[in-house]
Amino acid sequence: MSRTYDIACHDCRVVLWIGQDRRIYYTDRDLRKQREFFYEHIEHRLEFNDSETLSARYDFKSLDFDEDEDGDFIEKEPMPLENKVKII
Ligand SMILES: [Zn+2]
Repeated sequence: MSRTYDIACHDCRVVLWIGQDRRIYYTDRDLRKQREFFYEHIEHRLEFNDSETLSARYDFKSLDFDEDEDGDFIEKEPMPLENKVKII
């Protein structure tokens, strides 16, 4: 099973999915998302970690990028606790 990676902001309690299997996504759209995320969270406490670890430890909202609208991030509800993977 592939491992996915997020960047999380502890101040805003949000995560952005940015990579998989030791790769960081780098299409134009991915790079725009990452740039906007970093600029929106300047001086905030950020954590780069695998998605399972972050979702097991925190109840942060997952961000997606709405390019059809005005390029702003939209927040998705956190995954229900019963669907989360337990880290042993
Ligand atoms: Zn932030």
